[in-house]
Amino acid sequence: MPDRIFNFSPGPATLPQEVLVQAAKDIVNFNNKGIGLIELSHRSKEFMAVADEAEKLLRELMAIPDNYKVLFLQGGASTQFAMVPMNLLSKGQKASYLNTGTWAKKAIKEANLIAEAHVAYSSEESSFNHVPKNGEYSVDPAAEYLYFVSNNTIYGTQFAEFPKSEKMLVCDMSSDILSRKFDIKPFGLVFAGAQKNMGPAGVTVVIIRDDLLDRAPATVPTMLRYKTHADKDSMFNTPPCFAIYIVGLVCKWLKANGGVEAMEKRNKEKAAILYGMIDSTDFYRGHAQVDSRSLMNVTFNLPSPELEAEFIAQAGKEGLDGLKGHRSIGGCRASIYNAFPREGVLALVDFMKRFEKANS
Ligand SMILES: *Cc1c(COP(=O)(O)O)cnc(C)c1O
Repeated sequence: MPDRIFNFSPGPATLPQEVLVQAAKDIVNFNNKGIGLIELSHRSKEFMAVADEAEKLLRELMAIPDNYKVLFLQGGASTQFAMVPMNLLSKGQKASYLNTGTWAKKAIKEANLIAEAHVAYSSEESSFNHVPKNGEYSVDPAAEYLYFVSNNTIYGTQFAEFPKSEKMLVCDMSSDILSRKFDIKPFGLVFAGAQKNMGPAGVTVVIIRDDLLDRAPATVPTMLRYKTHADKDSMFNTPPCFAIYIVGLVCKWLKANGGVEAMEKRNKEKAAILYGMIDSTDFYRGHAQVDSRSLMNVTFNLPSPELEAEFIAQAGKEGLDGLKGHRSIGGCRASIYNAFPREGVLALVDFMKRFEKANS
């Protein structure tokens, strides 16, 4: 097997090696049953146990109370941009949205197709380099919910503290779910595509308070209703079996490594090392304002686009992969999710020092 490189990709992203090794075995022969994991019927008792275990672990790790349903859906986080307003709003109703980046903006667009999105805050004019603090915006008194994106993957900003509102919160946690502890009770709904911090592409986890399941207008199609999936434990139709299985393995790995609390501590340490490097020089400049910095995606620029291209190319040759920033802001981005090892951050910092010396 070739040595593993350090994969800084924003998503699909690096997964724990133990998980990959286990999956490679199970794909060929699951639990010594003489049948591969991805050949199993989703209604077989073997696969039902896999799905049950994944849900149980997720509930345990996130301390999800019984009055919330955990759903494993398809269509990616992007489908949730539409499903959320379709299920939670009727015509003539509205919700407030915090526009902190591309993913929030896309959600606002979908909400406006269905009902009305009131944009309570936008950081677009400053290239989405920060998230608002409590009190910097007001939620529409008529809003049914307040929607925000906890971590803005593209810009490298994150809500260190979640918004406080009398309205229920709805959150896209695609790129920081399971990275830190939080209290889910103020939330009506949380969703996350798995491919950033939780597993492979193909499954989107939706956590919804059960009293919201009956809100959807009768015109919402069957597959797009949360209730359809909640009533059948995400087995209304064939679920994304493989992706659910990997989410289960990742949760198991997380639990064995100290759970969310330990992850949070490690994530803070990893990010501090990298931001410390950025702050120690003028050669690298962070994109995000200091108090909005993400622990998951570290965005930065070099003195010129040419140097950035050279930096990314040379880093790639040293096995530091996936550092190119998103096309909408350019520059560099190091995504250091739960499964990204501390040694990789140290290797990047070492490379950054050498690159600066050689090019300044
Ligand atoms: C990646 C990402 C999305 C889009 O996810 P898809 O599963 O590709 O639709 C949405 N929101 C956030 C915060 C993301 O990081």
